[in-house]
Amino acid sequence: MSITEQIADLERLVVVDRTIRELGEQIGKERQQIDGVRAELGELETRLAADSQSTAEMDKTRLDLVQELRLIDKQLQRSRERLQRARNEREANAAERELDELRKLQRDRDEEVKKITELGEQARASMEQSERRQAELRSELEGSSEGVARSVAELETRLEAARQERKLVAARLPVRLLRRYDRLSTRLPAPVAACQQAEALQGTCLGCHIQLPPAMFHRMLSRTQFEECPNCHRIIYYRPAEPEGGAGPPDGESS
Ligand SMILES: [Zn+2]
Repeated sequence: MSITEQIADLERLVVVDRTIRELGEQIGKERQQIDGVRAELGELETRLAADSQSTAEMDKTRLDLVQELRLIDKQLQRSRERLQRARNEREANAAERELDELRKLQRDRDEEVKKITELGEQARASMEQSERRQAELRSELEGSSEGVARSVAELETRLEAARQERKLVAARLPVRLLRRYDRLSTRLPAPVAACQQAEALQGTCLGCHIQLPPAMFHRMLSRTQFEECPNCHRIIYYRPAEPEGGAGPPDGESS
């Protein structure tokens, strides 16, 4: 009994399995792209919330400082009056000391207000930047999620068709042969190979290009059973070389 039909089915299986693998990878890539945008949006939201909380705190601190400065101003006014009213050197010295302390306090608070104002401006600028990026990403997501959803749906339709075809082809193959194929395909993407005649009665596995034992090659010539390549363990069969100027291999050499 000839194995010609099984050969065609096995070769078809290799092609269909490659398609299934590639479609799965493409779907993953499409989804990853959207996931990346979503992740960045999430980070931006967290950063914006933190920035908004810290600017609120800075605003509050700044108001407190401004109020304290007003009080210091009043105290300075009083100290100056005390200095003017001083009746002796002791009172004048005390007022001077008070004035010095208050002026130092005023400088310190002024410095703090300046610093916190600067920090607040920086935080606000960074928030504006985050908001611009957020708007950018949102519109990108809106535009691309539609596109991605469409192309994922289209890829999934093709994947489903490939899976259906695989079922049909697999159902036609003898169970033991299919099991052998499936077992091999976990480590070899194309577990089926042809073998061709190199020289008189010498065959070569086209999967790993090793020379096959002559007795094995001789058995294969009749195309009644599959063999296993002693080197790469692929399922192998004999495919006669195409005559010169022929129509090429019957169903596309796997590359
Ligand atoms: Zn081989």
